[in-house]
Amino acid sequence: MNPPVRVLYLAGSGRSGSTLVTTVLGQYPGAFAAGELRYLWQRGEVENRPCGCGRPLRDCPLWRAVARELPVERAATIAAGLRGRLRMRGLPALLRRHRRGVRPVPAHPDDAALADLYAAVARHTGARVVVDSSKLPPYGALVGALPGIDLRVLHLVRDPRATAFSWRRRRGLDGDTDPELMSRPPAWKAALLWLVWNTVTVRLWGDRAPEGYLRVRYEDLTADPEPTLRRIAAFAGVDPDGGPFTGPATVRLTPTHSVAGNPSRHRTGPVPITADVQWRRDLSRGSYALVTALTAAGLRRFGYPWRRGGPGPAGADRPAGDGRPAQGGPAAAGGRPVGVGRSGPARHEEG
Ligand SMILES: [Zn+2]
Repeated sequence: MNPPVRVLYLAGSGRSGSTLVTTVLGQYPGAFAAGELRYLWQRGEVENRPCGCGRPLRDCPLWRAVARELPVERAATIAAGLRGRLRMRGLPALLRRHRRGVRPVPAHPDDAALADLYAAVARHTGARVVVDSSKLPPYGALVGALPGIDLRVLHLVRDPRATAFSWRRRRGLDGDTDPELMSRPPAWKAALLWLVWNTVTVRLWGDRAPEGYLRVRYEDLTADPEPTLRRIAAFAGVDPDGGPFTGPATVRLTPTHSVAGNPSRHRTGPVPITADVQWRRDLSRGSYALVTALTAAGLRRFGYPWRRGGPGPAGADRPAGDGRPAQGGPAAAGGRPVGVGRSGPARHEEG
């Protein structure tokens, strides 16, 4: 019997920094940046979109080796099955099952192929930790229930006004020349998705399994990159000293073999990690008010101010990721509210 595969699952809403964290973690010895593995079947095997290394996925030697162990001829069916099982309208039932202590996402014949995927990735990369930035909480619940998986959840949270602003940017799915755009939900929808996914992430893992759950706010990560990544690496189970930092806020990135994610996953070389505060200036008053009203419950919980530039709720200004898994509840994440990413060519606003 093989030892279980440790999966670090990045959960939460989109545009919260998961691509950046995945790419940086992938530079640590023993960690493999797999990217958004839930898209392997559709965007990878069916559409043959680029791997993080730049090759079309089916031409990447690593994914070719992995694919030989998988029923890739059924990739389109498996992708459709996943979409059906992970629909938003299934959320109430998923949470009810979780409360009753049963599998949140019921078992399915395709689960064997999904379990084989993670096992094959671990085997072919030799990684101790597979970093999966799929984000969608129901998929994380599905993966956590697969045989042979040891799941740890990194919950990345970002100010919802920043994510709503970021969602509206026009970006090609795999870079500026890609005619297929990343989704651009309107502010109200981005706000509701933020609230739903972050709340569900806390319900699934933060409340019940705090030892396998770490919450980090992207604002704290960009304010203090090196120490925050060290804490994440230690939580994931890789050597925190092995990171790619050449300075407190600069990393040297080599190509990864990540599947899907923000186009920034293709960046290599020295990359500074700094705050992108464009949303603070450019998000309209109306959008700010709308997103604030729709996410009010979550703002308090995760320690974000209601007013633009205002202070966070009492007790929220403690640096997050202080080495302990976040315990859930108001202000557990702590930290300074700042923007994300950076201006100029190295912008990390997604995923
Ligand atoms: Zn590759």
